[in-house]
Amino acid sequence: MVLLPVITAFIIGSIVGSFLNVLIYRLPREESIWSPRSHCPHCKKMIPWYQNIPLVSFFIQNGKCAVCDESISWQYPIVEAITGCVWGICFFIFNPLLATMTAVFSSILIALAWIDLKTMMIPLSLIISGTIMISLSVIIGILEWKFVLWGALAGVAIPLLMMGLTFLMTRRQGMGWGDIQLGLILGAWLGPWDMMISLFFAALLGIIAWLSISLKKGFDRNRPLPFAPYLVMSAVIMLFLGSHVGFWFDKFLLL
Ligand SMILES: [Zn+2]
Repeated sequence: MVLLPVITAFIIGSIVGSFLNVLIYRLPREESIWSPRSHCPHCKKMIPWYQNIPLVSFFIQNGKCAVCDESISWQYPIVEAITGCVWGICFFIFNPLLATMTAVFSSILIALAWIDLKTMMIPLSLIISGTIMISLSVIIGILEWKFVLWGALAGVAIPLLMMGLTFLMTRRQGMGWGDIQLGLILGAWLGPWDMMISLFFAALLGIIAWLSISLKKGFDRNRPLPFAPYLVMSAVIMLFLGSHVGFWFDKFLLL
């Protein structure tokens, strides 16, 4: 039975996603992430656990707060669903240890990408959490330190180069320092080759997004575009497909 652990992982992932929503709301506001307990941002009423079930509560309550009837953002179920899927896929592809580490690391990335999307800022606490996960993975032997070092180097050097070139051509800072820090932890996890491919696809996705927003709202050379969401999206896909394509196909055929 291949599906049971995957479904369990999906449920755990959606609960993690629910916690990520708390991080996404509180980290940019510099609020404590542990207390107070979850409350409605409109009426400030505490949300009891049975109204805070990931994915389920949102749809039962028709996307509204049970107390004040104010609409709840779609961000909540979307982040829960994405995190649930990422956890499910991790446990479908990897052995339990690697799956756990990859799922936790990816969850940090999801919160980071969403905060960048909303605020154009990358919280340092999430970069540090990622660094801790990488160090742990080296210690328990999931990642090899040489691979980590070369990856981190590629993850920093290439974005720095892109930043420099952008500045020379447009006199603008195309990427932020947060993106360089993100490049550091992503490169360390992915290794140099997968990191380069991720950067390429992230840039491509970013250009497509920039063009489609510009077509809708008119061209504005100064329109800022967060880079982390595209980088995280390509990196997580590379984590799943990159060096594991063969293994993935084996699993798929054996299902
Ligand atoms: Zn409310």
